Parts: sequence; C-alpha cells; structure tokens
Amino acid sequence: MSKNQNKTGSYSFFNCIEKNFDKAARFISIEKGLLEQIKACNSVYRMHFPVKIGKEIKVIEAYRVQHSHHKLPCKGGIRYSMKVNQDEIMTLAALMTYKCAIVDVPFGGAKGGIKIDPQTISSENIEKITRRYTSELIKKNFIGPGIDVPAPDYGTGEREMSWIFDTFLSLRSGDVDALACVTGKPVSQGGVRGRKEATGLGVFYGIRELCHVKEDMYSVGLDVGLVGKKIIIQGLGNVGYHAASFFHESGAIIIALAEREGAIYNEKGLNVSKVFLHLKNNGSILNFPEAKNIENTEKALELECDILIPAALENVIHKNNANRIKAKIIGEAANGPITPEADEILDKKGVIIVPDIYLNAGGVTVSYFEWLKNLSHVRYGRMEKKFRENVNAEFLKVIETVCKKTISIEEKKMILRGPREIDLVRSGLEDTMINGFHKICDLKKSLKIENMRTAAFVLSINKIIDSYEKLGIFP
Ligand code: GLU
Repeated sequence: MSKNQNKTGSYSFFNCIEKNFDKAARFISIEKGLLEQIKACNSVYRMHFPVKIGKEIKVIEAYRVQHSHHKLPCKGGIRYSMKVNQDEIMTLAALMTYKCAIVDVPFGGAKGGIKIDPQTISSENIEKITRRYTSELIKKNFIGPGIDVPAPDYGTGEREMSWIFDTFLSLRSGDVDALACVTGKPVSQGGVRGRKEATGLGVFYGIRELCHVKEDMYSVGLDVGLVGKKIIIQGLGNVGYHAASFFHESGAIIIALAEREGAIYNEKGLNVSKVFLHLKNNGSILNFPEAKNIENTEKALELECDILIPAALENVIHKNNANRIKAKIIGEAANGPITPEADEILDKKGVIIVPDIYLNAGGVTVSYFEWLKNLSHVRYGRMEKKFRENVNAEFLKVIETVCKKTISIEEKKMILRGPREIDLVRSGLEDTMINGFHKICDLKKSLKIENMRTAAFVLSINKIIDSYEKLGIFP
C-alpha cells in the first residue's frame, strides 16, 4: 500500500488530485517548493453551528476551503449533501483553482459544503441554515466580492444564492458591490442570463469540439461530428439535464439516462424533453413508456455507447468497474468522477477522457460574467444593442441599393438583431470552451503528453506559476 492510500486500499479524494498534479509536474521544470505551494490548500475553515429545527437544536457541520490565493477573489460552489467532508471540499476547491486557470477566469479556487440532506429538510430550515452559514462566513471574512464568491453546486441553486446575497447585504448594507458576493443568482436578483445552463452547455461545446478532431475520432474508430453519436448521461441534476438537452437538439442520440433510482435505455434514442416531462410528473425517470428500465443504475455506465457523460458525483468509475466500461469517449461533466486507478485502466484501453478541470468549467466561466456584470452595474448588451441594430439597418440599406434586391422580412430580422445578454454570454462561453480545448490539445501534441488530463494540468499549473512569478510569493 502506498503512503497515499487509506486503509481500504483506495486513495483519499485529495490524494487523487495530487496524483494527477504529480503526473503533470514531470513536464514542468520549476523549483519544487513552488509546485508544493500550488498543490497545497491555503485555508480550510471548518465550522459547527447550532440551528433550531422544530423543537430541537441541531449542530450543523460545514466548510469553506480556499485552495489558492494566487488570484482573488476565490471562487467556487457550495454543496449540500450528507457526503460532505473536509477531504471532499478540499479536493473540489483544488479542482476549482485548476479549472479557473485553464479557462482564463482570474480567480483562485474555493469550495464550500454543508453536511445536510436538502431533500429531507423543509425549505424554511434550509433557509435558516443557509443564512447562518453565510453569517459565519462573513464573521471570518470568508465571503465578499473581492474575497471569496460562492456559487451553486450539488444540492444548491438560485434560491440558496439569493439567501446568501440577502444575508450578506443585510450585514454589509451600503456596499455598492454587494451583488458580486455570490453568483448563480436569479436574473431578478442580479444574476446573468445563461448561468443556469452554462455548465451543461460548456460540456456540450467541449465534446462537440473533440468530435470534430479527425485524428482523435479515427483513433477510437468513430466518424467525425456529433450527429448520430450514441450518448449515455449519468445524473440529471442541473448539469446532466442541460447537457442532455443540448446533445439531443444537436442530433446526437441519447440512448440511456441514469438517475439514483435506476436508469432507462432505448437503443434508438430517448426523446429527452419527453423524459423530463415524465420525470416531473412521476418523480422518477423509471417506467418511461418508450424505454426499458435498468434497475441497477451503475450498470448503465457499462452499456455499449460512443460517449459516456458522468454528470453526478465523484468516484463513480473506479478500479472495479473501469474494465467493463465500453464507451470510447468519457466527458467528465461531474467533478472527479474517475478514480486514478480507473483512469489508468481506461487510458490503457485507449478511451479518450475529456477532464473535468476543462469540461465542466462553463459554470464558473459564466459566473465570472455574472460577477463582472454585478461590478459594472449594467446588463450586457444594454449600451450597444440599439446602436448595433441601427448600424446593421444602414448597412443593409446600402447592400439593397448596390445589389438592387430587397431582402425578405425574415432575413432582415435575423441580420438586424443587436446582441442581447444571452447572446453575449453564450458567445463568450462558446469561445472560452473552444479556446481551452485547443490550448490543451496543442500542449499535448507539442510536449507529447500521454492524455488530455495531464495536458490540462500542465496548462493550468503553468498559468498559476506565471502569476506567482509576476506577483512574487511574499506579501
Ligand atoms: N459549482 C460549479 C463548479 O464546480 C460552479 C462554480 C462557480 O460558478 O463558481 O464549477
């Protein structure tokens, strides 16, 4: 057993990331101490606070971890789950650091978590816990537009982000930038259009880009392009749900969807919007009329397919099931879904793994846009939309005169349209995901790195080294 393995013979989650980091470090020649500093978690805040639930006082366990301060503010989601523990939150915070660097989002990585099961607690009590957690963060200076900016994650969403903002504002009244203390807020509370679907859309853009690389597709025996590719998605939370919709709309075939209670399968493809309607009406994806049930949800990961998208929790592909995975491509929409042992098995099988620190960076990318919007106090597109439309109209008039041809009303509508907030956010996201993909692939090629994960880590660590060198290490 190596020193990083625990008693059960498996690695702690944080050790998994350290392992990936060390593989990348082989391609970086820099003083060892600086690499150690990048790897380490800078601040870990573990708290216990009391909340009165019904007649009882419950002691709640919660965390906020700031992995890196090389850029400020720190940034990362807050998850609500009974699995929350210090090792998990430290690891997820570290992933945020690497993720932000890859997509040029100027933040250090952070993560928070509260050990509760939101499905068994009333919304009044979730609100109480969220507000108390926020005031604990404020007390210790662990939240603020320039300090540390939370966002949604597993088990949280717009509602919780609104409560965090409201609590922050009530204790920091008069702070003109208070809106930027948290992202993933509803649009009516300073959120940005396009944030909700951003992670899923980013996953779609990343996989689409890969599917257009001839040599990669041929290496796994697939044709170029996304149309007709057979996809399995595990986890229908915010990320999996939106990714499934975008893949379906683009002409890929969703052959299986897996949730906690089981999975559904149809070789000819599932109509994603009909499945979601069924889920909404029945509280479960099982017994969908146009599909077969798979009772053991883990078995869905092992079905024959072109692309597997784990979009739920960490460590779902491990040394015991990796050999049975038949997918040719795995897109890590979740954080850390593949253990290092499984990673090695899949690598040997020639599976292309698109790593989490790149593929699910769409969420934090659009969080960055939301933060910028909050600090600038103006909606994207507000200043230029009408101006663009006027310029386009003039331009069109000239074309019509020169060509002596009238353009149809439908065509005119399309050409004249000035950019709305959602258009700008989506184009910023698309550009970010395309650029990130090619930067990783170029580095992989030029340094002859064995896989995309290690290349992504090298890219990310190099960027962090660059900021440390420009910043200087000592305050
Ligand atoms: N929780 C998301 C993630 O893991 C989003 C983080 C953010 O927007 O700050 O990437």
